[in-house]
Amino acid sequence: CGIVGYATDPASSNSGALDVVLEGLRRLEYRGYDSAGVALQVDGQLWTAKRSGKLARLEEALQASPPPASATGIGHTRWATHGGPTDENAHPHLAGDGRVAVIHNGIIENFAVLKKELVADGAEFLSQTDTEVAAHLLHAAFSRTGDLTEAMRLVVNRLEGAFTLLAVHADVPGTVVGARRNSPLVVGVGEGANYLGSDVAAFIGHTREAIELGQDQIATITPTTVDIVDFEGNPVTGKNYHVDWDA
Ligand code: GLU
Repeated sequence: CGIVGYATDPASSNSGALDVVLEGLRRLEYRGYDSAGVALQVDGQLWTAKRSGKLARLEEALQASPPPASATGIGHTRWATHGGPTDENAHPHLAGDGRVAVIHNGIIENFAVLKKELVADGAEFLSQTDTEVAAHLLHAAFSRTGDLTEAMRLVVNRLEGAFTLLAVHADVPGTVVGARRNSPLVVGVGEGANYLGSDVAAFIGHTREAIELGQDQIATITPTTVDIVDFEGNPVTGKNYHVDWDA
C-alpha cells in the first residue's frame, strides 16, 4: 500500500535510514493499511522488523530492541490482498537466508504457479502472500547474475499483474532497487541521498526534486546516483519535476 526506500552515505550528516523510512510511512498512513515493516542494511546484513496493526506497534517493537545505525533501508505499509493481516504476512519478505528483502504494492496474479515452481526447487515459504514469490525469485536471479538491477529485471519479466516492488540485498550495500507496472513509483533526488516512494509524500519532508517512473521501468538508487532502465534493460532518461504543493 505505502512504500518508502532510502539510501544515503553513512558518513554524511543526513538522517539515518530508520528515521527517514518511518517518517515516510507516517506520511503515507492516509492511504490506510493493516500492517507495517522495515528492512535496514546493517554491517553487511539485513535487519528487519514487521508487525500487523498500526505503525505504533512497529515503533514499540523498534523501541524495545532498537536496530544499529543504518544508511539504507526500505519500509512498507500493507493493505492485505493475499493472506490475512498477520505479523508473518507483513512486508518485508525475505529470501536467501535473510540476505534479500522485498516489499510490494499490488497483486502478483500468477503467484500460485511461481510458488509451485519455487517450492519444487526447495524454497521455504513463511507467508501466505503473493509477494513472497518475488523475494525467492530475486534471490535466485541475484545468485545467478550478481547484479541487483539485472536480477530485478529478470524477476519482473516473470510477474503478471500490478506491482511496485522495492528490494535491498545484504551483498549490495548502499543500494535500493525498485520496479513498477500498473502501480506508481517515484524517485526523490536529494543531497547525498536518494529516495523511492509510492508517492511523493514518502519523501516530501526531505526533497522536492522528483522523477516519475514510466510504465514498466526499474530505478536503482545509491546515495549519489539514480539509474533507470526499462524491462528490456535499456537505459531510460527520467522526467525530472519539482513538487510544489504543500505537504
Ligand atoms: N498483495 C500484497 C499482499 O497482500 C501487497 C498488498 C499491498 O498493496 O499492500 O501482501
